[in-house]
Amino acid sequence: MRKVADCREMPNDVGCTLMIAGEEDEVVRAAAEHGVSVHGEVDSFEYRASIRRSLKDEEPGYGARPSEAYP
Ligand SMILES: [Zn+2]
Repeated sequence: MRKVADCREMPNDVGCTLMIAGEEDEVVRAAAEHGVSVHGEVDSFEYRASIRRSLKDEEPGYGARPSEAYP
């Protein structure tokens, strides 16, 4: 099962809609690098942990509409 990180699910100032899918470690690494370069985040253990917590399982059709399940 691949994991998905979706910028639309995270608060961000730049209106970013990027979605990253892949193996969990790949997604965490790519999302951390993306967060630093695009969102001005500071890469840290805590930041990567927060990304890991926000990952979802990839579902067929995911991204077709905004998720209602995310708190
Ligand atoms: Zn983004």
